[in-house]
Amino acid sequence: MDCSHAQSLLDIYLDQELDPVRNLEIEEHLHGCAACAQDYGDRQMIRQSLKTESLYFKAPPELEKRIQRSLRQAAKAEAPTGWFSGSWFKMAAPLALAALVVLMIVPYFAGPSSDELLTQEVVASHIRSLMPNHLADVPSTDEHTVKPWFDGKLDFSPAVVDLADHGFPLVGGRLDYVEGRPVAALVYGRHKHFINLFVWPSPMASAGEEETVSRHGFTLIHWAAGGMTYWAVSDLNPAELGEFAGFVRERAAPSAAASG
Ligand SMILES: [Zn+2]
Repeated sequence: MDCSHAQSLLDIYLDQELDPVRNLEIEEHLHGCAACAQDYGDRQMIRQSLKTESLYFKAPPELEKRIQRSLRQAAKAEAPTGWFSGSWFKMAAPLALAALVVLMIVPYFAGPSSDELLTQEVVASHIRSLMPNHLADVPSTDEHTVKPWFDGKLDFSPAVVDLADHGFPLVGGRLDYVEGRPVAALVYGRHKHFINLFVWPSPMASAGEEETVSRHGFTLIHWAAGGMTYWAVSDLNPAELGEFAGFVRERAAPSAAASG
């Protein structure tokens, strides 16, 4: 990526609306280019200074009531003479517009939710791992090689299971970073596809159902079990990745994770 390309994408990057590949490219460019990094810093500062309390405002409950009242009246009054001729419109339109502005501005300044940020981070880590020589720090199909490799590198011991007999052979393991903390990344294969299984402890997370989401053509499934958080990500279809998640949940039982 050259400077002019990077510059043209900076604002979209700041909005966190770039696809993960562009995101990585621009991150790499910013690391190596002082001029663009400076420009990025400037824009970040402007963004930050706009993010002040004075720009936040909540719609008062009375406004909501008034809009609802107006809409009810409008529904009643909707006459064959048409939408735009009614006097109600003159009253309701500014209110509706104000509500719309609130709806649009508040999320814009509040930014994406932490769940969404985590999802994006997991996708970005997955893509980064697919770059040459990034997939596995310990390339091995043997769970007894991969599991001990994490000893001393993490403050927990992830359960590592080979799922070759289910059609998901273990490819290796890698130290990765998610949410600012080191996590275990277990890599599995499926035909020509790779799956990253990110694992880290989350004592507060309650065990529950899997959640499946799609982002930028990738499927992500996450769940919590035995005090651990699991994120599986791949370009596999949801059904196949769901199958994989099912096997992991079955084999990487909480007791295995806890006993280390
Ligand atoms: Zn540059």
